Amino acid sequence: MAPITKISQILDGKCTDQKIAVRGWVYRKRESKELIFLLIRDSTGVIQCTVKKTSPAWNEAQKLTIESSLSLEGTVKEDKRAPGGYEINSELVNIIGLAETFPIAKDKSEEFIRDMRHLWLRSRKMNLVMKVRAEVLEATRKYFKQQNYTEVSPPMFISAAVEGGSTLFGLKYFDQDLYLTQSSQLYLEILIYSLENVYCIAPSFRAEKSRTIRHLTEYWHIEGEWPFADMDDLMKFEEGLMTHVCQTIANTCQKEFKELGADIEKLKAVQTPFPRITYQEAIEQLKPANPALTWGSDLGYEDEKVLADKFGKPFFVYDYPTAIKAFYCKTYREHPEIAMSVDMMVPRIGEISTGGAREENKDILIQRMREQGLKPEDYEWYLDLRRYGTVPHVGFGMGLERLLVWMLDLDNIIDAIPFPRTTRRFYP
Ligand code: ATP
Ligand code: MG
Repeated sequence: MAPITKISQILDGKCTDQKIAVRGWVYRKRESKELIFLLIRDSTGVIQCTVKKTSPAWNEAQKLTIESSLSLEGTVKEDKRAPGGYEINSELVNIIGLAETFPIAKDKSEEFIRDMRHLWLRSRKMNLVMKVRAEVLEATRKYFKQQNYTEVSPPMFISAAVEGGSTLFGLKYFDQDLYLTQSSQLYLEILIYSLENVYCIAPSFRAEKSRTIRHLTEYWHIEGEWPFADMDDLMKFEEGLMTHVCQTIANTCQKEFKELGADIEKLKAVQTPFPRITYQEAIEQLKPANPALTWGSDLGYEDEKVLADKFGKPFFVYDYPTAIKAFYCKTYREHPEIAMSVDMMVPRIGEISTGGAREENKDILIQRMREQGLKPEDYEWYLDLRRYGTVPHVGFGMGLERLLVWMLDLDNIIDAIPFPRTTRRFYP
């Protein structure tokens, strides 16, 4: 058999008039008396293959069913009519695994396709989304590394809540009650005292009952934390990261965006600096659309969307009321009612990251815990960080899937991750 060639190489015009072999799966099949059209897919693309009745491949090609695995040998021809502009005139078909009738077909409902996730991941859409996801991860790591951040690995089993108790997943850990982590922030805070600039890309778990296009119960969280820094440093880092990732993807994922029909221009348009508005300004801008909003209200998804659609690009909202923020948020000494907290927002999705300065003063931290009904005894190790060489520090967390929903114009966050976990979905 001729050497195995990846389909993308054929589509790039590198094999024209050559005899090659491909290996993959039957994506579509159409048959007439004299000719069989096959679309074969591998990890890199889809190619049209024709089998003439006179070809020695005819008999095997006739047996092929959708999603059968095979190798196929033939000669590559340029053909404007073929999807992708090239086709293979097949001379040999070798069936590797003959497929039973494939359950996913055009007339199936979205619900059904979701139930068949393990098979749907073979679709072009999911193949392309997963590739972009991998590129986003790579670009993210590259940026952190360029900026001298060390990647660390925090635990997923934890003994005390990071975010509010309402979205905490509990579990039995031998004889003890533990939780699944909602964020790795507190652990990154430990590590800055050793490594200074740290980041992690790890799962976070939230028992979110609401079914929205931006919530999963298990999502991947890009989190950074570093010492000797303030709110301005934080926003500069976040916009630098976002710009680097968008520009990299605009460059490396053109084919994927084209095939998915996603708008790549919005990524190219991302440039630093991002607009910044205070929470107070956000409330003023939103009042006409939502008169019920007053200083102190939390911004809901609808509010964030109205605001974000106005900007039409990523931007920051900062200086939130302390009362709606977690115990670890640092507050202004002259204005303890305002917390140094910042959200990055994007059109259509609203919030994609939250960050801020962390309270470094032990006594204020204890007071904030008590105000929120938390027991300082449960956070002894966290308080130790303030006892031994405390430093001003900042950090943020960005949801990888929310970022992808925005980048790829996805309708729903479940398509940004291969095995989505929601209230109702956890199979396979
Ligand atoms: P929301 O108000 O939208 O529920 P949050 O403010 O509770 O989000 P944070 O605790 O600030 O979320 O988490 C940091 C980031 O993690 C968010 O900005 C978002 O990008 C992502 N994130 C949070 N919860 C989820 C979730 N359930 N599914 C997917 N991503 C999430
Ligand atoms: Mg948040």
